[in-house]
Amino acid sequence: MVDVDPVEVYVAHDASDAAMALAMLGAEGIEGRVVGENLQTAAGELGMSYNALPRVWVPGDQAERARELIRAHERERSAQADAAPADPWVCPGCEESVPGDFDLCWSCQTERP
Ligand SMILES: [Zn+2]
Repeated sequence: MVDVDPVEVYVAHDASDAAMALAMLGAEGIEGRVVGENLQTAAGELGMSYNALPRVWVPGDQAERARELIRAHERERSAQADAAPADPWVCPGCEESVPGDFDLCWSCQTERP
């Protein structure tokens, strides 16, 4: 077995983000690991610094594929973030403004037109 140096492919936003990235890579057969998770806890009271963020490392020969997967993952994330705050709509029944993620009027239960 060839010994390959690990390469950092992703700086996570937080520990759960790192875990999610790791799980995603694992599903594609890439065995990564999270580095720096414990530092985050230690640095918590001093305020977050870039250096304290958990990073995902993978074997160097899989780094290119891992980066591609992570880019796709990030695109999906930002697409979801963009879609999240749906436009409010005005109820045709009572003319109340209803938040975009409601399908029924909160006031009179009229369906979204
Ligand atoms: Zn209504």
